[in-house]
Amino acid sequence: MVEECLKHADSVNVAEGETTWRQILADARAGTLKPVYQGGSSADLAAQPIPKREIFYQNDFYDWDEDLVQLTRGCSYTCGMCSLPAQMGGRIRFRPIERVVEELRSLKHENVYLADDTLFFPHRKINDYARALFQAVEPLGKKYFVSSTMALNTEPGFLDLATAPACGIFTAP
Ligand code: SF4
Repeated sequence: MVEECLKHADSVNVAEGETTWRQILADARAGTLKPVYQGGSSADLAAQPIPKREIFYQNDFYDWDEDLVQLTRGCSYTCGMCSLPAQMGGRIRFRPIERVVEELRSLKHENVYLADDTLFFPHRKINDYARALFQAVEPLGKKYFVSSTMALNTEPGFLDLATAPACGIFTAP
């Protein structure tokens, strides 16, 4: 909906921002901001820095006492009402679990929203990632909230493993 967005903004970045953000900042500084930047959907999640959350912790801008951590991007389904495949691509990319754990250790709040829509898909690769993730985060003593599609993984023991680290699951069609 780039055209519609441009009615309300000077510039629009389409899809992910990692590959375009530096250029956007440089253009903004130079006063040469373009109307549209094409970010694509191939950012390397392993190369992502851990956000400087102290910026937010120092200020009392938000009432929401939770942290938010991203795990994967992309979705191989193409549900008509969902922006995710258009925004992040149709291939699921995984963030390395050791980086997720490193980030979780740095967080202030006990409650963490895992920003992920595909963690509960019944696909082998996702299942393996999710199981390894649940085991890795359990010792951290945090509580997790994660959304899921209705395509829940029903493999025996999977949800037991998911709920072991006090993980609340919200499903949406
Ligand atoms: S399965 Fe979920 S994340 Fe994937 S396209 Fe459908 S609604 Fe979006």
